[in-house]
Amino acid sequence: MTATNIRAFAAQNASSALAPLGIARREPGPQDVEIEILFCGVCHSDLHQARNEWHNTVFPCVPGHEIVGRVTRVGSQVTRFKSGDLSAVGCMVDSCHTCEHCRAGLEQFCLSFPTFTYNSEDKHLGGHTLGGYSTHIVVDESFVLRAPTGLDLAATAPLLCAGITTYSPLRHWRVGPGQKVGIVGLGGLGHMGVKFARAFGAHVVLFTTSPHKIADGLRLGAHEVVVSKDAHAMKAHQASFHFILDAVSAQHDINTYLNLLKLDGTLALVGAPEHPLPVAAFNLILPRRNFAGSAIGGIAETQEMLDFCAAHQIVSEIELIPMQKINEAWDRLLKQDVRYRFVIDMASLKS
Ligand code: NAP
Ligand code: ZN
Repeated sequence: MTATNIRAFAAQNASSALAPLGIARREPGPQDVEIEILFCGVCHSDLHQARNEWHNTVFPCVPGHEIVGRVTRVGSQVTRFKSGDLSAVGCMVDSCHTCEHCRAGLEQFCLSFPTFTYNSEDKHLGGHTLGGYSTHIVVDESFVLRAPTGLDLAATAPLLCAGITTYSPLRHWRVGPGQKVGIVGLGGLGHMGVKFARAFGAHVVLFTTSPHKIADGLRLGAHEVVVSKDAHAMKAHQASFHFILDAVSAQHDINTYLNLLKLDGTLALVGAPEHPLPVAAFNLILPRRNFAGSAIGGIAETQEMLDFCAAHQIVSEIELIPMQKINEAWDRLLKQDVRYRFVIDMASLKS
């Protein structure tokens, strides 16, 4: 198969800084869409993966799964996109298309495992998939989304992961009016969780470890902000929540949040810290609480979320950076110093 060489940024091992690397992209096949990447969001998963915190990383690692760009070429059988269209790609670029979960539109739970945008087997070129910290990507049409119109394009990039990862569980657990909903951690995912929970009509309480984020939390849509290190403030919310979404990237005490759930309330974890989070049995047993998890969202639901954002003028709060500042941005992510998503302007990699 012929391929095109393009520019990317990659980690060569778990401790190396990200640095320029030339990589190959396949020539578009009949069902493929080739996209010139304009913007790519910076997810904490990029950092977990490149640092091998999930113990499965194949190097070199080119992260990036919050991609928006312009279509440059399409294959002969592509029907939904043409050259010049704005389009988007999230965390997956393929799946088996045939299993029970794929047929139900839950490609993220494909029984043969989805092909993730990075660090999955590359069924076309061999080796492993390489993500959006690069100038171009080639993706099967069925995994390409229409970018929402009428919104700032750079600020829509984070919707492709931070957006869908919070939208999907809030929809699944039917968050809405009359419910008290908690969002834990005001980072990339958390700030989108606050926006969606508010848009769905819930009473929204943000939990943060960072007192200086209180004003932003209220501005972004929380009705209340609780500094989680304040034991007295936490106790005031005991056994009062219908649903809590935990979007924390590091070790923390999950029991503190289980104790805030009402009877039959659910704590859904989307954060994926490196080490296990111990759960005390009685925090689940009394009073019958649910501890759950959720992963991104299916392709149809991702399009639904993008269309919802266009209709409700919802975007991410971003700090636009050139590719060359990525290592600095990752250092800041580790210090919880993110307001509230870094997005790479890919023009910086082309010049
Ligand atoms: P992020 O922007 O770095 O935000 C994480 C937030 O967690 C921080 O801003 C901070 O909020 C809080 N936090 C960090 N360290 C903490 C600590 N030691 N104790 C308590 N709170 C801490 O990360 P992100 O991109 O939103 O990603 C969050 C997590 O979700 C990551 O683990 C990522 O891999 C995972 N993720 C999962 C999925 C999925 O499908 N399930 C998809 C994407 C990402 P405060 O300053 O407000 O406390
Ligand atoms: Zn992500």
